[in-house]
Amino acid sequence: MVSENVLRKYAKLAVVMGVNVQKGQPLVISADVRDHEFVSYCVEEGYKAGASQVVVEWGSEHDTKWSYEYMSKEDLAEIPDWQYDKRKYAQDKGACFLNVMSSTPGLLKDIDSEKILARQMAASKKFMPLQAYTMANQGQWCIVALPSVGWAKKVFPDKSDDEAVKALWDAILMSVRVSEDNDPIAEWEQHNKEILTHSKQLNDYNFKSLHFTNSLGTDLTVELVENHIWAGGCEEAGNGAIFNPNMPTEENFCMPYKYGVNGKVVATKPLSYQGKLIDGFSLTFKDGKVVEYSAEKELEALKNLVEFDEGSAYLGEVALISYDSPINKTGILFYNTLFDENASCHLALGRAYPMNVKGGTTMSQEELAKAGANGSMTHVDFMFGSRDMHVDGTTHDGEVVAVFRNGNFVL
Ligand code: ZN
Ligand code: ZN
Repeated sequence: MVSENVLRKYAKLAVVMGVNVQKGQPLVISADVRDHEFVSYCVEEGYKAGASQVVVEWGSEHDTKWSYEYMSKEDLAEIPDWQYDKRKYAQDKGACFLNVMSSTPGLLKDIDSEKILARQMAASKKFMPLQAYTMANQGQWCIVALPSVGWAKKVFPDKSDDEAVKALWDAILMSVRVSEDNDPIAEWEQHNKEILTHSKQLNDYNFKSLHFTNSLGTDLTVELVENHIWAGGCEEAGNGAIFNPNMPTEENFCMPYKYGVNGKVVATKPLSYQGKLIDGFSLTFKDGKVVEYSAEKELEALKNLVEFDEGSAYLGEVALISYDSPINKTGILFYNTLFDENASCHLALGRAYPMNVKGGTTMSQEELAKAGANGSMTHVDFMFGSRDMHVDGTTHDGEVVAVFRNGNFVL
């Protein structure tokens, strides 16, 4: 399907450019058992890069499905202490975390969403004290994806199993810039430079707010927090290591002022949430809060998201991606946020990234809240970019600057 050469290059990219494991640092990899070949290359690359120990946490999405089907809501909501302790131990040792995913969109579509919500709520609460480690980039982390048959068939329903997986492999490898004969690490270094240039331009303007409009009915003003920082591409961890949290990535993202979002946004791609596929949806905001929402499909899942906690009815991220991004040019709907969010301007309901405000990564929860950051327990991206998207930035002096015209950056 994919040559060993390519698979090894992808594994090395994830370990060296993705988490960028440092000498003497532990590496924790979480993955589905189906991806064991790729993961074993990652383990090898981890040790070659000097990892003190590489630990793999295996799971299986099909086993997860069985547990949702057969376990009671109460049992699902019980997260054992040892799971928390295990994660805390790794974080205390200063580990970095690589997440290899290949999940099937919609796998849990027939599962009672109350069960899923109960589990997620319990897990979020339990792991809340450990969240800052990755959310505030204290340690390095990275998410990469591999195709699975279930995922590939969702994306390419008319192809045979093998053809679909091959087509999804091609799309993934193109998106993460890995081919038989290129140097993916050099290409990522160049790519990161380009993203940083956009961040710098946006930071220099220091916009007070952004105004999004398109013909679908999106008419949304998003105020940015004071002292905001546009980020994207690579990040710096507490130990100084430069890492790439998402592979692929095309976005420049920033922190909305929690109470400064007004108007309506119409989503342009379906959203996979809690194993359900929410489609044809829109949200209306007043003073930051979602006051109205609708969906053609899986309205209940959208309701669960908006009502997840106090902060999930507010935004925590606004991200700009040109309509002509290479991922969007594939014309493929991946049904996977890691890819689809990098094909389109997006927003996230829920928690903000502390790095998006000056000094944020060392602020307490109270200080972050004071700065206008959303402190929800969840963070879910949804896509609203379109070919005819216009974005205007308003500076603190009241000057209006065209940021996007017809879907693309014009700064
Ligand atoms: Zn984003
Ligand atoms: Zn996000």
